[in-house]
Amino acid sequence: MPTSRVLGYAARAVGQPLEPFTFEPPKLGAHDVRVSVTHCGLCHTDIQAIDDYYGITTYPFVPGHEIVGYVSDVGGAVSELREGDRVGVGWQGRSCMKCEWCLQGEEQLCLDIVDSGTWVPFGGFSSSVVVDSRFAYPLPEAMLSEVAAVLMCAGIAVYSPLRSYAKRPAQKIGVIGVGGLGHLALQFAHALDYDITAISSSPRKRQQALAFGADHFISSDDQASLRQAEFGFDLLLCTASGKINWEPLLNTLKKNGTLVVVGFPDVSFNSTDLVAHQLSITGSFLGNRATMREMLSFAQEHGIMPKVELMPMTKVNQAVRKVRENKARYRIVLFNETTDTGR
Ligand SMILES: [Zn+2]
Ligand SMILES: [Zn+2]
Repeated sequence: MPTSRVLGYAARAVGQPLEPFTFEPPKLGAHDVRVSVTHCGLCHTDIQAIDDYYGITTYPFVPGHEIVGYVSDVGGAVSELREGDRVGVGWQGRSCMKCEWCLQGEEQLCLDIVDSGTWVPFGGFSSSVVVDSRFAYPLPEAMLSEVAAVLMCAGIAVYSPLRSYAKRPAQKIGVIGVGGLGHLALQFAHALDYDITAISSSPRKRQQALAFGADHFISSDDQASLRQAEFGFDLLLCTASGKINWEPLLNTLKKNGTLVVVGFPDVSFNSTDLVAHQLSITGSFLGNRATMREMLSFAQEHGIMPKVELMPMTKVNQAVRKVRENKARYRIVLFNETTDTGR
């Protein structure tokens, strides 16, 4: 059992910068593992939670849910993991395992989802976390830890809807937003053999979007190109957050087309086209455990590579500022310099 307190970085109140914060190591339940954090990605969701955008944050709040580290302690009922194993942990760190959704293997829809976050009680911007071992995923040996970290949230968030909603190869897909989620969506969609158009508010991202695997690029301010794309896409995957001019975008969907929202943008639109074009609008949240395992091996097999900027955990506020200013290209991963790797 660890005797020392855990060092983390916490927001003390809504929107505050993170401060060093030490706490007692949470006790292990029978199915739990303690994971010494070596890497943790910074996701837009962490910042929205610091700002209590979802209305569920309790303070002091230690964010962080794109975790890679080494198992340092295991509960009595854990059989699949051992001390020293390298694992990845995403947003979901546990589930009730008994509600209708958990019993169907759709744990991301668990009725106890608010209490299932990896950041309950404290997240990965720290030296260690405790999660249910069934949500700690062994990683392909050759996969870099910073790569795996980003896949644990951004990766599963885009892979799962691409798997569920895009059925036929060569289907035409528009990916809205070329950021932390979007740059991975382009890579996964390319590997899945879809015809992909990246749609971004930053025209300067064109080259990079094509390099990530987009076949075409449209600037979301370019009304002429959007009009040309009318009735073009089977599926729109929205990875962006914030304000979006929806009308010209929805017009790019084929009749019977589907918009899947995975970011947290402001959403409003005119119901006329929705009804007359028989559009479907849906959300997609993370993915289940089976899809997580599938995503990790798919990413390894197809060389999916998030573009990562590594920063020491001690610079967490600098990293948060960069994401707030939309300057991260494309994902920041924080690393702990002192974490015992368990080896
Ligand atoms: Zn996330
Ligand atoms: Zn459940």
